[in-house]
Amino acid sequence: MSDSLSDALAALEAEVRAACAAARDDNELRQTAARYLGVSGTLTRLLKRIPELPGPERKPFGQRVNAAKVAAEACVAQAHARLRAEARERELARPAADVTLPGRRRKVGRRHPIQRVLEEVVDTFVGLGFDVAEGPEAELSVNNFDRLGFPADHPAMDMHDSFFVADLDAAARVLLRTHTSTVQVREMLSHPPPVRVVAPGAVYRRDDDVTHSPMFFQLEGLLVDEGVTLSQLRGVLEAFLGRLLGEGVKTRFRASYFPFVEPGAELDVGCLLCRGEDASCRVCKGTGWLEILGCGMVDPVVFSNVGYDPERYTGFAFGMGIDRLAMLRYRVPDIRLLYENDPRFLASV
Ligand SMILES: [Zn+2]
Repeated sequence: MSDSLSDALAALEAEVRAACAAARDDNELRQTAARYLGVSGTLTRLLKRIPELPGPERKPFGQRVNAAKVAAEACVAQAHARLRAEARERELARPAADVTLPGRRRKVGRRHPIQRVLEEVVDTFVGLGFDVAEGPEAELSVNNFDRLGFPADHPAMDMHDSFFVADLDAAARVLLRTHTSTVQVREMLSHPPPVRVVAPGAVYRRDDDVTHSPMFFQLEGLLVDEGVTLSQLRGVLEAFLGRLLGEGVKTRFRASYFPFVEPGAELDVGCLLCRGEDASCRVCKGTGWLEILGCGMVDPVVFSNVGYDPERYTGFAFGMGIDRLAMLRYRVPDIRLLYENDPRFLASV
C-alpha cells in the first residue's frame, strides 16, 4: 500500500475523531456516523472498491481500511457515551423545584344537590320522631309489588317498565326496586306495630327524559299504630313542609290514586317562585301550585299481607321524589343535569 494512501487514511481517521469530539448532540453524532460509516459513507465506499484493485493490493488495503472503520466505530461509541454523561450532568444540575412559583389551588368539591336535599329531608323527619330504614336496591318482586297489593296486570310489573335482574319463578323474581315502599314492607314484616320510619334511597324505572331519569331518589314514610287518622297525616306533612320550605308555605290536598293507599291524595305546595301571582310562571305553569308528594291511608290489604291486624291498626304512607325537590330548590330545568356530573353545573347549584 502506498504511503500516500496510508497518509490519507490516517488523515481520515483524524477527521473522524475530530468530528465525533465536536458533536454537540445525538443528532449531530448520527450525521457524523452516517458520513463515514453509513451505506454511502466514506469508509464504506472505500471497502467497496477492494475488488477493483490488483490482486496483491487487496489484502493490505482491506486490512487498513477495516482498521480505520473499527477506529471510527469506537470514536462514535465514545462520543455517544460522552453525550449521555453530559445530559445526565445537566439533569442533575437543574434545580429540583422552583419554590418561587405560585401554588396551584386545589379544587374543593361539595355535596351533590340531591344528597344535600335528601339529608335535609331526612333530618326534618327525624326531628318529627321518625326512624330511618334502609333496604336492598335489588329486591324481590313479591316485596316490590305483591305484598303492596299491586294487581297482577299492573303496568309497572311489565318488563318494559321495570329492570328485572333475575326472572326466575314468581316467588324468586328479582328486580331493581321501583320505589322505596319495599323498605316499608320489610319493616312491617320484621317489626310489630307501632312503626314510624322514613326510607330514603335510589329507585329504578325505565324512563329517560327532561323530568325522568332511569335512576332517581325517593323518600317514603310510613306510620302505623292504633287510631292513626288522615288528619294526623296532614298534620305531619304540613309540619314537614313548614320546616323544609319555611313556615307559612301554602299546601293543598287533592284526591288521587296510588297503589296500596286508600284514600290517596296528592299534596301540592304554593309555587315558591311566583307565589301564584304570575300566570306565565314556568315552574308552576301558571297554576300557582307544585306537586310535591303522594300520600294516603295504608290499604288494609297491605296489613293483611304482612301479618298486621287490619281491624286493629291503621296507618299512613307518603312518598316524594328527592330529585324533584332538588330541581325546585335549585331551579334545575332538566333532571339529567343532576346525574351528568358536569362540574360546571355542580359548582353553580
Ligand atoms: Zn309559579
